[in-house]
Amino acid sequence: MKKIGLIGGMSWESSQLYYQYINKEINNRLGGHHSAVCVMESVNFDPIARWMANGDWAAIETVVVQAVKNLELVGAECIVICTNTMHRFSPLIETIANIPLLHIASATANSMKEQQLSSALLLGTQFTMEQDFFKSILKKDFAIDTIVPSMETRTEIHRIIFDELVHGKINETSKQFYQNTIKAAQLRGVQAVILGCTEIPLLISQEDVDLPVFDTTKLHASAAVEFSLAP
Ligand code: GLU
Repeated sequence: MKKIGLIGGMSWESSQLYYQYINKEINNRLGGHHSAVCVMESVNFDPIARWMANGDWAAIETVVVQAVKNLELVGAECIVICTNTMHRFSPLIETIANIPLLHIASATANSMKEQQLSSALLLGTQFTMEQDFFKSILKKDFAIDTIVPSMETRTEIHRIIFDELVHGKINETSKQFYQNTIKAAQLRGVQAVILGCTEIPLLISQEDVDLPVFDTTKLHASAAVEFSLAP
């Protein structure tokens, strides 16, 4: 089994989902007392959240790059960044790392392609919904089109992530807001919804919506298991 290197803490509420999913899937596949061989470099989210709010991406980059180096030093054989937003640094990480980066957007797109889907509503932080680092991989490498909600809706989707979900708060009104957003996109003809923030599965799952749901946390964790067990 190869050692999975996780960059966690952004937030720890979703990092624990990765740890659970990866261990459960390894055990489902191998049985017995098998569990994952992995290491997590978990950062303090407080300065990261402030730097994000202030747009100080250079400070965050320093932390993420150091986390990659630390994982390599302890023998990680791949890098799994347990947040969609921090994949904005993936081109840089791919150039500096000596081990493969398992990209969250590719893991998601592979699963969509298996179901022959080619369009999705993308929900996530404002950065993930508005910048190109996630959407462009779907478009260029997999020919998947994404749409995002209106600016007003994006602001509320983002607020719920930072004010509630990263603190583990689950609020029924927020859940309804997400459900309504997804319903509106469905009326626009979109085929699927991507939960493009690793905390959203705390709030929304397949049972809550009619469209096929692509949970980036689960799909990314599965990609890590696949890598770990590959010969
Ligand atoms: N975990 C989130 C994501 O998947 C948001 C928190 C962060 O910005 O790291 O984007």
